[in-house]
Amino acid sequence: MLTLRLPDGATREAPEGALPREIVASIGSRLLRDAIAVEVDGEVLDLTTPLRKGGAFRVLTEKDAESLSVLRHSGAHILATAVRRLRPDAKIGFGPSIEDGFYYDFEVEEPFTPEDLEKFEAEMRKVIAEKFSFVREEVSQPEAQKRFADDPLKLERLGEFSSDEIISTYTDGPFVDLCRGPHVPDTGYLKHFKLLHTAGAYWRGDERRQMLQRIYATAWFRKEDLEAHLHRLEEAKRRDHRALSQLLDLYSTDARVGPGLILWHPKGAIVRNEIENYERALILRHGYELVYTPHIVSEKLFQISGHLENFKEGMFGAMDVDGAAYRPKPMNCPGHICIYQSRQRSYRDLPIRYAEFGAVYRYERSGVLHGMMRVRGFTQDDAHVFCTLEQVPAEIERLMDLCDEMLRTFGYPYTIELATRPEKALGSPELWKQAEATLADVLTKRGQAYEMDEGGGAFYGPKLDFKLIDAIGRKWQGPTVQLDFNLPERFGLEYTGADNAAHRPIMLHRVLVGSMERFVGGLIEHFAGAFPLWLAPEQVRVIPIADDFREFAASVVRRLKARGARAHLDDRSETLNYRIRDGETMKVPYMAVVGKREAEADSIALRVRGAGKKQEILTVADFTARVEDELATRALVP
Ligand SMILES: [Zn+2]
Ligand SMILES: [Zn+2]
Repeated sequence: MLTLRLPDGATREAPEGALPREIVASIGSRLLRDAIAVEVDGEVLDLTTPLRKGGAFRVLTEKDAESLSVLRHSGAHILATAVRRLRPDAKIGFGPSIEDGFYYDFEVEEPFTPEDLEKFEAEMRKVIAEKFSFVREEVSQPEAQKRFADDPLKLERLGEFSSDEIISTYTDGPFVDLCRGPHVPDTGYLKHFKLLHTAGAYWRGDERRQMLQRIYATAWFRKEDLEAHLHRLEEAKRRDHRALSQLLDLYSTDARVGPGLILWHPKGAIVRNEIENYERALILRHGYELVYTPHIVSEKLFQISGHLENFKEGMFGAMDVDGAAYRPKPMNCPGHICIYQSRQRSYRDLPIRYAEFGAVYRYERSGVLHGMMRVRGFTQDDAHVFCTLEQVPAEIERLMDLCDEMLRTFGYPYTIELATRPEKALGSPELWKQAEATLADVLTKRGQAYEMDEGGGAFYGPKLDFKLIDAIGRKWQGPTVQLDFNLPERFGLEYTGADNAAHRPIMLHRVLVGSMERFVGGLIEHFAGAFPLWLAPEQVRVIPIADDFREFAASVVRRLKARGARAHLDDRSETLNYRIRDGETMKVPYMAVVGKREAEADSIALRVRGAGKKQEILTVADFTARVEDELATRALVP
């Protein structure tokens, strides 16, 4: 007999092989109606999988997060059912649930077209209306071989089962799949879904194997959730930083330079430079000192730091310099450590805070490169704080203030995660525990809410991860603060204490924007290319309605420039409407239109981005003062 412990503390005895649905029914018929699956001893099972072990027993309904992936994976079966009805020749691969939905891989002669997807989706609705039960069967290897005789991909997978492994198949109506589950009870449970797009995908992700056709879909329990997700997808497409950067002339890549390496165009460089100028002033005010370190570094340094041992697959290959191996640096820390060690340090010198906009190079597989978001070379706004153990809490506090100030300037709300010891880690578990406790302590004392990211720490220490929330609710990697007890040990860092003896300092690594490339890419999407005034490459465009007012328009530009604004004169011989439309397309925050009346009154007719045709008449003096004030405060306008 198996013993099942229910959440309310009650227990149920059941013979081995009993079905979860029988247990759920014995708890209540209403619960059975709502049940999607169950969780037994941490494992999610469908209602028809025979119980083989006891333990904590929980019924999962639509309200439980786990149920969504059960629904989505079932959706993959339904998709395959529909595809096989319309294209009996399609060979089937795998169909897992993924974030927000599911996919299924098919081997077909011709790639699927958008029209195919429409037909598949319509067919899925029929399969759903037929409410086929997902029927589980546990079968022998020969029986399974027979069932999938026409599906070579399934046969390959079957060949990998060990003799004591249970082979299960699931049948919904005409379709049978090799699968261990879990699934929803029948196909009728899938209601709110949409097929999204197709993509080529190598069988088992192996580029030496054949290319399959992957169909992506999204699925939800509630109609509102599906609609909200589709809206988010549309918004994400509209905001794609690669397309916007092309339109706004911000950056490009070039096959001759190499993939994943960003060329910043003048307008993109303005955005970046504004961020760097802002941040430089900010951190100098927060007690940092600026340093510079070289891009290529002797490999010996990374032997000491442990990067070669722990991060080798992320590093570019070695180059030979006078018989010694050098590598592009993947991180700036070792260089900063060498500066620290260049002279004797006393407790009176601490904390020491070094900051650098340091270019680093990291190998990423070509398949994962994505615009400015995943690249092979990027600039980190990196800093390292060397301090005593006693100074750590105050330094973390100071860093939290710094991060908060910076994120408010860009208008990002954020959440914080505390990332703990990963599998591959330097240093003793005790040291890690102590470091994690220090970080948790500061957060708690500040009353700062945070989530745990178990195993998400860097290999040399635990960290605080700030996650930015953008305009459409997506989370981006923001500032990180890492506590490090390990590198000081490896490099033998020291300072002389008040007792005249040598002590080991603690090191903090921190970035605010992280990768400048990714941060700017994220900003482009957050603002949909419509940068706030202080970041906009072109801040004001002055447009004379006719040649007669060219001189006056030029004087407005001069006066704006004198106040530090990036103002341009658009005196092209195009129509006024054309020039205004062009300014709108280029997302210029302010357009100042001037004609006879304006020239006489020393005023402008102001068109504010996003305000449509509405015009505001104000004097040039008032306008320049307003622009100057908005720039000085880095106001998030218009
Ligand atoms: Zn399945
Ligand atoms: Zn570092």
